[in-house]
Amino acid sequence: MAKIAINIATGSLQQDEIIVGIDLGTTNSLVAIIHPETKQPTALKEHNSSAIVPSVIYFDEANNIVVGEEAKKYLEISPERTIYSAKRLMGKSYGDVHDKTSLLSYKIIDDGSESLVKVQLGDRFYSPIELSSFILKELKSRAEHILKTPVNKAVITVPAYFNDAQRQATRDAGKLAGLDVLRIINEPTAASLAYGLGLKKIANATPQLIAVYDLGGGTFDISILRIVEGIFEVLSTNGDTFLGGDDFDKVIVQHWASRAGISMEDLSVNKLLAQGLRLKAEAAKKYLSTSDLFEDKLEDLSLILTKTEFEELIFPLVSKTIDCCTNALKDAGLKISDIESVVMVGGSTRVPLVKKTVSDFFDKIVNDQVNPDEVVALGAAIQADVLAGNNKDILLLDITPLSLGIETAGGLMDVLISRNAKIPSRASRQYTTQVDGQASMRISVYQGERDMVKDNRKLAEFNLSNIPGMPAGLPKVEISFLINADGILTVSARELRSGVEQSIEVKPQYGLSDEQVEAMLHDSIANAKEDIAVRALTEARTEGEQLLKSTERFLQKNTAELTKEELIHTASAMQALQLAITMDNKDLIHQKIEALNELSRPYAERIMDEAIAKAMKGKHV
Ligand code: AMP
Repeated sequence: MAKIAINIATGSLQQDEIIVGIDLGTTNSLVAIIHPETKQPTALKEHNSSAIVPSVIYFDEANNIVVGEEAKKYLEISPERTIYSAKRLMGKSYGDVHDKTSLLSYKIIDDGSESLVKVQLGDRFYSPIELSSFILKELKSRAEHILKTPVNKAVITVPAYFNDAQRQATRDAGKLAGLDVLRIINEPTAASLAYGLGLKKIANATPQLIAVYDLGGGTFDISILRIVEGIFEVLSTNGDTFLGGDDFDKVIVQHWASRAGISMEDLSVNKLLAQGLRLKAEAAKKYLSTSDLFEDKLEDLSLILTKTEFEELIFPLVSKTIDCCTNALKDAGLKISDIESVVMVGGSTRVPLVKKTVSDFFDKIVNDQVNPDEVVALGAAIQADVLAGNNKDILLLDITPLSLGIETAGGLMDVLISRNAKIPSRASRQYTTQVDGQASMRISVYQGERDMVKDNRKLAEFNLSNIPGMPAGLPKVEISFLINADGILTVSARELRSGVEQSIEVKPQYGLSDEQVEAMLHDSIANAKEDIAVRALTEARTEGEQLLKSTERFLQKNTAELTKEELIHTASAMQALQLAITMDNKDLIHQKIEALNELSRPYAERIMDEAIAKAMKGKHV
């Protein structure tokens, strides 16, 4: 990547700017590049030290910041000033995480609103974006130190389940750290790139179906990818943002605490003890990946754990990941036997029980040769190389986790880009006004699978104003949705007759957790029948209201042309329709619409004929 080129204009040597790949992890982060000589993806490390930088930040009393291994030491000494797992808070509101704060040793602020969470350290407050930027800054300066060159450009990876808000937060963190984030890519895509899967564009090749099982410190993702002719496509994703190696540690802590007669309440008060036990638990877990018995002490507490006990403790958690695998396969419309390769990612896949369970489920030997801690960063470096123009054979496609659309009459959700659509993606549709002379149109953007927008999640709202006065139904407003390669949505509205235009980049206030995405999908399935009924009723009501309005307008203009009888009958049919609209019966509304139409059709035609005859009068053909 660090190519030397000659500037033809000046004849001088110029070095291409380096683009690094960054895995910004929940527990650990690291930077990788394509080695300029070996052309192999390589994790950056100083001599005699690890490439891994723990995603831990310590603030001293003077608010000086320490990041990485050095900061990790303070987890025990100064837990309230040491931040870990900040990635879990990215793009989240307090409401999203309030029930998960008990095991965090630092303070998370609830300002009672839906705004993004903040972490409190003494009298200072930090957003997760700032916290992540401290980690990225550290990674940037380490890379610069190792490479002896400025590093300003990066590809950063995110879990496949990250939504727009979380991707945007990651991008903002990069910017804050002084990095130009050229691309945000999904971790599973990066991991398969690191295994060389799909790297070569083979014409007419049969698609390769791959499962990427990623169990890190704090998150679990399973992604089903299809790679064909160098094109990567995420067929489905599933997972849990609150399941990972940290939870293995947690169950060990609970096991030891209950054995020693320490209650969870005691632990939530005695943060120092909780943190101490957590670190011992992690050490035990790692030790048991290669041994059968762990024995240690914490003050006067004797800490013992056998491999069998450990496996019993984590069994429900591992089973949960397998349920996610089943769901991901179902979503992709595939059988276990369709999967050709399984890629293991994340430090927790070193646990033998995890490896065995996944291997048994997919009935395959899993790919675990590449260091599971480095595999994502290595893939990000390969993607960086593609962006640097060094590998033109790869194209990356991802998918949207939830449908995107706008609110239409009666609070209905009109989907423009449906769930699991490929990214980048573009869609547009034409709408019109409901009222004569309507000068502005409110465009509300929603995400979700339900038929009524009130059951979905509002992402943004804006006004298209200065629409020239026209009768209802005449303006043509084209709404376009564009999701770029990073998964960021831009919505634009344009009135085609006048050319007035307005657009908005959707940066939602706060994100959704996996659980919420899942819950939204479940809701939409559970309520599908009811939703269809509500939609039909709403559509009938809107149609009825529009007919009442247009009949009203017609009557105002043409009262003189109607007989008294026609006027009375119309008034009563309108009243009947008005009444039907207030009731929950779509068939009744349709019946009354039909009745009013039946009644008005003869005189409407008559008046139209008269008008034409009048217009033609005196004109010679
Ligand atoms: P990641 O988020 O991918 O960096 O994964 C880090 C997680 O992997 C942490 O929960 C670590 O405790 C866990 N981990 C690292 N090494 C091992 C090991 N040898 N055995 C079990 N878990 C490990």
